[in-house]
Amino acid sequence: MTNSEWVIDLKNVDKTFVGPAGPIHALRSVNLQVAPGEFVGVMGPSGSGKSTLLNMITGIDRPTNGDVRVIGAQLNDLSENTLARWRGKNVGVIFQFFQLLPTLTIIENVMLPMDFCRVWKPRERPERAIHLLDQVGLADQAHKLPNTLSGGQQQRAAIARALANDPPLVMGDEPTGNLDSKAADKVFNLFEALVNQGKTFMMVTHNVDLASRVPRVVDVLDGELFDNGTSKT
Ligand code: ADP
Ligand code: MG
Repeated sequence: MTNSEWVIDLKNVDKTFVGPAGPIHALRSVNLQVAPGEFVGVMGPSGSGKSTLLNMITGIDRPTNGDVRVIGAQLNDLSENTLARWRGKNVGVIFQFFQLLPTLTIIENVMLPMDFCRVWKPRERPERAIHLLDQVGLADQAHKLPNTLSGGQQQRAAIARALANDPPLVMGDEPTGNLDSKAADKVFNLFEALVNQGKTFMMVTHNVDLASRVPRVVDVLDGELFDNGTSKT
């Protein structure tokens, strides 16, 4: 595979935070290549650098050193504005605590990224949002506020929002971390469905049972990445 075909291509990525007690080496010389359509799990103890790794790939944060290339874009080179637009179209992000806007209804939350990126015309957006909510089993909850839904339902709404602009890459930072096992299983089944539709999906998880169902798992330990995984590609 040539460089430009990887969905994620990290070369010698370091991230150092300056803390009151001195530098914190959150990532140390991380190399990672992920092919289109791969399903990758990220495991490791708390504080080992998993969220920092995800933030490098989504462009939420920038490396101290090294190259971050994702879906053909060299993220190091992009301005904040360009990066925000690039992210809106190319990467869906799912967080542990859903991060739905509490004063907007579920369908309004799902339409927000569409309004920001304008891939779909305004009159097409409600129909697309309902279609996405239908895929996650929530079409009948579309006009409710997030806090009237269960945790599992809120996370499924966040998945619909992550898919708003049909991004090729979806990233989850402990997306089942706040769900009971039944809700987590339902959410995980949706992730598998995404991969079957051709999306590239990467998720941090502490759940050993779920990780055993992921074809490739990388471990992050004290800022270093260890790749155990063989994948289908
Ligand atoms: P994980 O997600 O594996 O729990 P993180 O990536 O959040 O770990 O953090 C890795 C290390 O970097 C930790 O020591 C954490 O305290 C530190 N860290 C993360 N973000 C910041 C920040 N914005 N400023 C300073 N230190 C940070
Ligand atoms: Mg984390």
